[in-house]
Amino acid sequence: MDNPGNSYSQALKQIAKTANSALPLRKALNTVAKNTAKAIKAAGCSIMLLNPQKAHLDIIAAHGLSDLYLRKGALNVHKSLPEIMQGKAVAIVDVSQDKRAQYPEAAEMEGICSILGAPLLQKGEVVGEIRIYSHEPKHFSQADKDFLSTVANIVAIALEKSELYRVLKADHEESVTKRRKLTETPKLPSSSLRPSSFSHTSEEEFAKLLDFYRIEWLYEPRSFPLTWQDNKVTEMFTPDFYLPELDLYIELTTLKQSLITQKNRKLRRLKGLYPEVNIKLLNKSDYLRLLAKYGYGPLGETKVEGVNQVLFSHTQIQRRTRALAKRISYNYRGHQLVLIGILKGVVCFMSDLMQHISLPLTVDFMAISYYGSNTEPAVKITKDLDTSIAGLDVLMVEDIVDTGMTLNYVLNHLSSHSPASLRVCTLLDKRVRRLIDVPLDYIGFEIPDEFVVGYGLDYRGEYRNLSFIGALNPELIEKGRRE
Ligand code: 5GP
Repeated sequence: MDNPGNSYSQALKQIAKTANSALPLRKALNTVAKNTAKAIKAAGCSIMLLNPQKAHLDIIAAHGLSDLYLRKGALNVHKSLPEIMQGKAVAIVDVSQDKRAQYPEAAEMEGICSILGAPLLQKGEVVGEIRIYSHEPKHFSQADKDFLSTVANIVAIALEKSELYRVLKADHEESVTKRRKLTETPKLPSSSLRPSSFSHTSEEEFAKLLDFYRIEWLYEPRSFPLTWQDNKVTEMFTPDFYLPELDLYIELTTLKQSLITQKNRKLRRLKGLYPEVNIKLLNKSDYLRLLAKYGYGPLGETKVEGVNQVLFSHTQIQRRTRALAKRISYNYRGHQLVLIGILKGVVCFMSDLMQHISLPLTVDFMAISYYGSNTEPAVKITKDLDTSIAGLDVLMVEDIVDTGMTLNYVLNHLSSHSPASLRVCTLLDKRVRRLIDVPLDYIGFEIPDEFVVGYGLDYRGEYRNLSFIGALNPELIEKGRRE
């Protein structure tokens, strides 16, 4: 049987060895973060330093966290797990329900459910923190807390003894000032982060394409020192773009061979010095292929006709769906679930959601049709459930709730079959148009009053196969009405 004490002592041996190695400090701490997360079987880990005013924590090393999450904003020591500052290891089991989580929404988007943190102590004084992030709800044991506190001690010693500590601190403070400037704006992409001009038209074109697909981007967000002389940086590399959703830096290039060779040399050096950084050198056809690979529509160049704007990218939908599935798995732990969907709009969402629910479950579908007039619409069931739901826990899965009339009708129908429980999970909530107040237990995204298509949702039978959700051009709908 797996003995956690034994695996923790093995992990500590490795972590102490790394912290005591000749590796550059930042690289060593990133490896420590990786090994710590692995030992606790968690998704991620961050190591943070307290700023000189002792008000904020800034991340100096991390593993398994997206750049978007790392850039969510400065952590306030009084708002985020404040007891750690009293020198204790502290755990949060459910980030969405705990007031000690400062950025619950960002955590939920990242799929984080539980957090365990421990202080970095130097001579009894807190100088920073180490935190562990779990995608599954986790009740951390005393052994987990002791392990993390020991790692914290090793990190604190490594920091203190490192000659680079001073340099790192100065470097870190400078980069924090830069990062603060970026994170002051809550939502990306935002106009204040937009460059007034690009250095090349291909960059502008690429930015427009990213905007259309709602892929968040930052322009030249970070410079990587590549060579030093006497502690002074003599060569830097600044990639053109960073795509937080994909945790990917992109350097655009033309087909000019001399430029490609030079850039490739810099990229090789960058990858050697910063192995945790994901970067790609792309020309135009490469980036169209890349967008297609990540599921952004047929191909970037031919924007989808009739779709004005992408509201939720494929990655955003996937991330949100995973977070919902984790919450559902946790809330229904120990139970068997029946998922019920209404054909056909829910097919994509149902398919992705159920794959991430870690419970035994069955699936059933209904079909309905609408009749009556525009002012007095009515719903009828054209395909009922295949199996009985009496005494079972039922989760109604919806693509979109608009006026609430359909859901209200279906919930009444299902209630009459005496399930043990009946709850609702909807990907989209068009709350502004609600006529009947139906209870929604799990909501993917709230949307404004726009007609949306894609990811299963149709307009006159089309658009269901788009991998993203987009707003349909209202003129198209108007034209359709006149026909
Ligand atoms: P409700 O009864 O809540 O008004 O409407 C529910 C149904 O209307 C949904 O299941 C969906 O079929 C359709 N619907 C409402 N809003 C939209 C929309 O923005 N796009 C699409 N494609 N269908 C919608």
